[in-house]
Amino acid sequence: MADAIDCIVVGGGLAGLACARELVRRGRNVRLVEAAAAVGGRVATDTVDGFRIDRGFQVFLDAYPEGRRQLDLGALKLGRFRPGALVAGGGRLRRVADPWRRPLTAVGSLLSGTVGLADALRVARLRGEVLARFAAGKLDPDAPVTAAERTTREALEARGFSERFVARFFEPFFGGVFLERGLETAEPIFAFTFAMFALGSACLPAGGMAAIPRQLAAGLPADAVEVGTPVDAVEAGRVRLADGHILAARAVVVATDGRSAARLLPVGLIPAMAKPRADKEARLVAFAAENSPLGEPTLVVSADRAEPIDNLTVPSDVAAGYAPAGAALVYASVRPDWSGDDASAAAAVVRQARGWFGRRVEQWRALATLRVGHALPDESPAARLTRPTGPRLAAGLFICGDHVTSASINGALAGGRTAAEAVDADLGRR
Ligand SMILES: Cc1cc2nc3c(=O)[nH]c(=O)nc-3n(C[C@H](O)[C@H](O)[C@H](O)COP(=O)(O)OP(=O)(O)OC[C@H]3O[C@@H](n4cnc5c(N)ncnc54)[C@H](O)[C@@H]3O)c2cc1C
Repeated sequence: MADAIDCIVVGGGLAGLACARELVRRGRNVRLVEAAAAVGGRVATDTVDGFRIDRGFQVFLDAYPEGRRQLDLGALKLGRFRPGALVAGGGRLRRVADPWRRPLTAVGSLLSGTVGLADALRVARLRGEVLARFAAGKLDPDAPVTAAERTTREALEARGFSERFVARFFEPFFGGVFLERGLETAEPIFAFTFAMFALGSACLPAGGMAAIPRQLAAGLPADAVEVGTPVDAVEAGRVRLADGHILAARAVVVATDGRSAARLLPVGLIPAMAKPRADKEARLVAFAAENSPLGEPTLVVSADRAEPIDNLTVPSDVAAGYAPAGAALVYASVRPDWSGDDASAAAAVVRQARGWFGRRVEQWRALATLRVGHALPDESPAARLTRPTGPRLAAGLFICGDHVTSASINGALAGGRTAAEAVDADLGRR
């Protein structure tokens, strides 16, 4: 007879993989069931004509504490972005040296005297305070939210930043990270992300972001993972598969995205989940080019509100394996508030980029335009207050995923690990 299963993990994104791996490490017999044909969830990479196209532009920040704890960073062969960026405004690109480590120099270079030194000093103070909070263990975006938080915009206003400065500095940087330009995301998420940029680099693994879930999955016994196995319903100790089969285990962890969790879990268990909030969308246009328009591993962010580009990168300048030899790969993320349709996105991106790089962009060949409908959950203060306050929902029933912790690779990994610890403790008690 097969060994009894200690825990079924539903969903093989980063949270589910991290959870399963931690349970295996603790000697538990685990089964992970994933609906899609491969594990990885929202961290996925497709190959088109030898170019690696991540499903939405994403970066791994090498200062993420959970990344350091759970991943073999050396084996990922990370390529690093330069800490600065090029900021587009009024059709021009201006270099921002290094806003995370040398805010005074960086802000001076961006604003070239058009806004007072006061905002530059405010960035320096913000940096100091955020790093002190992080060092003191008081900046954890994955901790349960028990009191009302401010939005990023409210926190910046309270610090006295000028509107103009927010529009030219914070909106282009963090609008692309949060996938929303309103800066409605809760302040701890902003502060943590700022600290991560200050303490490390934005990176891409060689050959694509999918190398991250691949590494996690390699730490699991081959027979522990079943892909192409959608789950229909979950309760403590039981999982009903879409084909009608029932799997039983001492514990079940729901490690899906928030909308799927709301559908799978018993009605009424988490009242706020009955009305899932709208997720944020992302769009990416990928181009093949003969040469890199940048020639360096730099991020371009745009403050031009009416134009389509949110940010532009050349992944083949950053990490090995993104483009075939002798070619370059260009990604343009489209602003969430750009109203054009997918069919017109590539041409609109080329039109805008021509203003920055000249006519050579007309030779770019569009490889793919992809839309990620449910890219990130709502991380506004109101949304965060409705979340479960920990991974344990009931005896034998647990939850994790970026909708419970914070919407990032770090948040998904942290949630998976802490869910595994809670399961292990629960099993130990019974
Ligand atoms: C476009 C984009 C850009 C991003 N940028 C960054 C970035 O730059 N840096 C960063 O740190 N993070 C970024 N993120 C966020 C990060 O990728 C996510 O927070 C993280 O991958 C979420 O992992 P998860 O395991 O919580 O959820 P998911 O990846 O959604 O995994 C859930 C899994 O559950 C499976 N599932 C769902 N329903 C069922 C079912 N009924 N039965 C079985 N399986 C099921 C799904 O198929 C999926 O594999 C970005 C995300 C996107 C989409």
